Amino acid sequence: MTLSSQTKNLLKAHEEVDAKIEPNAGWRDLPIGAVIPQGGTATQFATGDWRTIRPVWSKEKCINCHRCWLYCPDMSWISEDGRIQGVDLTYCKGCGICANVCPTKVHAIEMHPEDDFKEDEAAKEGGK
Ligand code: SF4
Ligand code: SF4
Repeated sequence: MTLSSQTKNLLKAHEEVDAKIEPNAGWRDLPIGAVIPQGGTATQFATGDWRTIRPVWSKEKCINCHRCWLYCPDMSWISEDGRIQGVDLTYCKGCGICANVCPTKVHAIEMHPEDDFKEDEAAKEGGK
C-alpha cells in the first residue's frame, strides 16, 4: 500500500511515542489516549487513505451550484471565481455526500470503486 507523506509523518510520530514506553510499563505509565496534543493536527491525517469509493466529477454537467463544496465534510471541493475546479482527494474519504447532494437532474458526480483506478495509478508510480 502506498502511504501519503502525511500518513508517514503520523506513523513516525506514533513510533516515537511508542519508543518511550518501557516494555514492562504499567497502565499508569502509558500516554493518555484520544488526546489532541496541539491544534491543527487534523491536516496531518490524510483521510483519503481510507477511501474505497471515489467521486468522479463531470465538468460538462456541473452547474456550479456549490452544494458539493458546501456539504463536503473534508472541504475537498476546489472552487475558484465561483466555479468548481475539481476535487482534491487528499482528505476525501469517499463518504459520497457530494454525489448525494448534487442535484438529481444534473448528476455531475458519480462514485466509483477505488479498484477502477489502481491500474492508472500503478502506471503513474512506475513512470509509464
Ligand atoms: S466523497 Fe465525501 S469527502 Fe469525498 S469529496 Fe465527496 S463529500 Fe467530500
Ligand atoms: S453539487 Fe454537482 S452541480 Fe453542484 S457544483 Fe457540485 S458537482 Fe456541480
